[in-house]
Amino acid sequence: MLPNDSLNYDLVFKHAKIGMALISPTGTFMKVNSTLCELLGYEQHELISLTSQVNIYQAQIDELVKYGQTMESMNIDQHQFEQCYSQRSGNRLYITMNVSIVRDITGIPQFYFTQFEDKTLLRQMGSMLQSTERNLNENEDSFRQLLDKIPQSVFITQNGVFLYVNPAALRLVYATNIEELIGISTRAVVDESNHAALYERERNHDKDYPLAPICYLINCLNGQQKLVEGFSLTITYEGKRAVAGIFKDITEQKQHEEQIMRSEKLSTAGQLAAGIAHEIRNPLTAINGFMKLLRTSDHKKELYFEIIESELKRIEFIVNELLILSKPQASHTSNPLNILPILEHVITLMNVQAALNNIEIIPLFTMTSIWIDGDINQLKQVFINLLKNAMEAMNYGGTIRVTVYYNAYEVQIAVQDEGIGMSPEQINSLGRPFYSTKDKGTGLGFMITQNIIHNHGGAITVESVLKQGTTFTVKLPTISETEEYM
Ligand code: ADP
Ligand code: MG
Repeated sequence: MLPNDSLNYDLVFKHAKIGMALISPTGTFMKVNSTLCELLGYEQHELISLTSQVNIYQAQIDELVKYGQTMESMNIDQHQFEQCYSQRSGNRLYITMNVSIVRDITGIPQFYFTQFEDKTLLRQMGSMLQSTERNLNENEDSFRQLLDKIPQSVFITQNGVFLYVNPAALRLVYATNIEELIGISTRAVVDESNHAALYERERNHDKDYPLAPICYLINCLNGQQKLVEGFSLTITYEGKRAVAGIFKDITEQKQHEEQIMRSEKLSTAGQLAAGIAHEIRNPLTAINGFMKLLRTSDHKKELYFEIIESELKRIEFIVNELLILSKPQASHTSNPLNILPILEHVITLMNVQAALNNIEIIPLFTMTSIWIDGDINQLKQVFINLLKNAMEAMNYGGTIRVTVYYNAYEVQIAVQDEGIGMSPEQINSLGRPFYSTKDKGTGLGFMITQNIIHNHGGAITVESVLKQGTTFTVKLPTISETEEYM
């Protein structure tokens, strides 16, 4: 048996997955289905018994009736519009209402057949999507703005090929257009001498521990070379795994550092020169005297020549030391070397000036060799700086003791003076560039000393008592003595 019209209609109403109601033209719920009850959170009888006086949905129903009247007046039977409903729990529902006017045979409206389509979730998702999209856009925008503005050069690469560079990076390498770099291998920019380091870095990007800063020599597009320092790390860029490198140009800084080193060396050399000139004058006077004697007499010739020769050697030694000191700083080299002869050399050199100030530098060590890895000229500079400071602290003369201790791992060289000493504040300020308590001081000597010692894997400590004296102790790692070094 085919279901008749009304039965069919009733079944659909009952089982529909969509909320449905029949609403009278005066605005009362005549019939509601269970889906609508679930949706609104009310029982059927609660909705149906709502009178126009106490109707929680009065505003919506009023609106619906108004729509209904307009539909009637315009002879439209069906219409769709949006409405907001509150659930019993208070939650807000966004509903699309489908209203059909059901009329009797004579065409008079009997009731409104309404379908409540719940669009709350869709709407929430929509606004969520919208805000995420906005956020994403904002993030990407601010990310780009950040990259465009930061003074550091940012390079994003993939498989060793440039994917993106910021304006600072373009300026760094003297590129005018991003196209000049995109798609080009990093090896075309990083100097060949650093390719091994670059390769090593690329291999380490996969490790998950933080990587240390790295320094590269780069070749700019105009052929100029620059030194850059920075970090590189893996990131996700446009959904793909990439490497971001953030670098800054340290070429000038490095040049400046070298300049400082050089000016301190020159100033030390200049100050030493006064004493040395004095010292050179003595052998020259002696030589002159013997030359005169040689002209007048024949005997003792041998002795005079010997004396002249040894005095000339001494001049040569002093002048050589002075030249080494004022030579521009070659970069740090590392060779096995015996530290004791170096120390003796420097003491001999410094004793020249010390004697003028009533100061004696006494080496207190008897061993003849202790081997370390290092740069001979830089180590000389260290001991010259320490002895010079010690001498400058001793206005009334006295003794400077140079002591050496060592064990299997390290050698300790202590320079102990009998000078004015240092207050705790002074000790704290040591190593700060340009910190000096002297009229003609540069305030760079100790900083350079410390740098050199650190570059050698060592350390320097200070102990001082005001008005009694100061001891600087240099510690350096030793290496084992082998025949080939000797
Ligand atoms: P400068 O010798 O040009 O002043 P340094 O860096 O060599 O610069 O030393 C910085 C300061 O540390 C000195 O001006 C001085 O005040 C202090 N100082 C360094 N060595 C000694 C020392 N042996 N005794 C007392 N003060 C010292
Ligand atoms: Mg000094």
